[in-house]
Amino acid sequence: MTRILLVGRSAPGSVGETRRTPHIFVVPGETPSRLTAYCGASFALSELEQVHGSQAGMPCERCLLLAFSPPAAPPSQTG
Ligand SMILES: [Zn+2]
Repeated sequence: MTRILLVGRSAPGSVGETRRTPHIFVVPGETPSRLTAYCGASFALSELEQVHGSQAGMPCERCLLLAFSPPAAPPSQTG
């Protein structure tokens, strides 16, 4: 099964810069009101900024470990 992943972090100004760690999310088939990262961090869509390529800082280590370690069960999505 193909997973579509999104890398996102807290929107600018919503938290301090040191807390804007990029997290990894599975994009669900439907648009939820919130996304939950592999590490368990949960964000309303309005709180997220999608991260592209060179914008990214050091990603969340827990997300990296959980997203790319088989079997990688996606987090449950609510919304
Ligand atoms: Zn994370």
